[in-house]
Amino acid sequence: MIYQNRAGFGSSFNSGGKIPLGLQRKGLRIVVTGGAGFVGSHLVDRLIARGDSVIVVDNFFTGRKENVMHHFGNPRFELIRHDVVEPILLEVDQIYHLACPASPVHYKHNPVKTIKTNVVGTLNMLGLAKRVGARFLLTSTSEVYGDPLEHPQKETYWGNVNPIGVRSCYDEGKRTAETLTMDYHRGAGVEVRIARIFNTYGPRMCIDDGRVVSNFVAQALRKEPLTVYGDGKQTRSFQFVSDLVEGLIRLMEGEHVGPFNLGNPGEFTMLELAKVVQETIDPNAQIEHRPNTEDDPHKRKPDISRAKKLLGWEPKVALRKGLPMMVQDFRQRIFGDHKEDSS
Ligand code: NAD
Ligand code: UDP
Ligand code: UDP
Repeated sequence: MIYQNRAGFGSSFNSGGKIPLGLQRKGLRIVVTGGAGFVGSHLVDRLIARGDSVIVVDNFFTGRKENVMHHFGNPRFELIRHDVVEPILLEVDQIYHLACPASPVHYKHNPVKTIKTNVVGTLNMLGLAKRVGARFLLTSTSEVYGDPLEHPQKETYWGNVNPIGVRSCYDEGKRTAETLTMDYHRGAGVEVRIARIFNTYGPRMCIDDGRVVSNFVAQALRKEPLTVYGDGKQTRSFQFVSDLVEGLIRLMEGEHVGPFNLGNPGEFTMLELAKVVQETIDPNAQIEHRPNTEDDPHKRKPDISRAKKLLGWEPKVALRKGLPMMVQDFRQRIFGDHKEDSS
């Protein structure tokens, strides 16, 4: 599908003329691929609030119109149903490239499609960035470090990734996406930014997406046992979504290519996470052990010194502060009349 945006090429000025005067200098035209998803929709909220014009490009594989429908009717917002594996013509100043399922359950569902999204999808968005001279930001992942032999992980670590495993479509897909990004930067002079995002949680996560925080929260609310995979001693570091969005915007606006780790260094075993969920929702919630999935990384914790130093960024929301905000959203979506929709 080819879509031509109405805004003219080359200018970084807003076209609607309805933006308050003080915000006009920030009136960029920005594409957010995957903008109807969990992280993307929070990013869109911030960009719209500061006066930018935002085009969301999303195929609704894991995204939902509900996540962005509060912007419908705003002349600075457009939603395009489009698969980034197909080329697209748009005229924009910045591209936040998030399109890709993030939950292991989703990305393993159709692994070849996940690779295409990461490789062909990223290639198309880089081609677009090259054609219009837009700045391009890739949302890569801590999974590029695989099952890390270095702890915590610094950006200089090259990782320990299984190239033929069930997670490879995502890990290796993102590694190739990083390679493409750097090759367009070096070869075609595209201005690029790379974020390596660590586990992020918050309102609007898909309720049944299989990720650990969404699983535990939904299970505790439904009075089901919390499913701990394996012995529960594996670790992750959980970042609240508003911290991530702040980091992504700082990275895009800053002068440094990266890659930058964006994550909260607070490290928890899955059993510790279960305990926090019990304290937050239901002290009587039971724990049930299940066999772990293949190639599950044993530990993960970001070293964020680079982002602190060069972006002036660090996370502000601790797990015990962020979790209640997510619980409120999940409670409303599970029990309230605001229904889940599959689009
Ligand atoms: P999400 O699944 O909620 O959002 C992904 C969005 O991309 C969805 O709206 C989906 O419909 C869309 N999408 C998927 N394939 C597409 C395609 N081929 N064409 C167009 N749209 C497509 O996931 P999220 O948690 O919001 O993650 C956003 C990005 O951040 C992803 O690139 C993910 O790899 C990265 N990331 C997220 C985390 C995390 O913990 N949330 C961690 C590391 C990296
Ligand atoms: N592309 C796109 N939109 C654009 C420009 C390019 O989707 O505005 C796609 C294009 O179809 C190609 C990819 O991006 O598949 C890479 O483009 P590039 O110009 O770098 O390479 P080429 O087309 O020469 O192979
Ligand atoms: N996990 C768990 N119970 C669940 C879902 C996941 O114990 O219901 C574990 C999983 O085995 C992994 C960790 O939680 O060790 C994080 O999994 P998730 O899918 O959230 O993200 P990942 O970091 O693996 O991409």
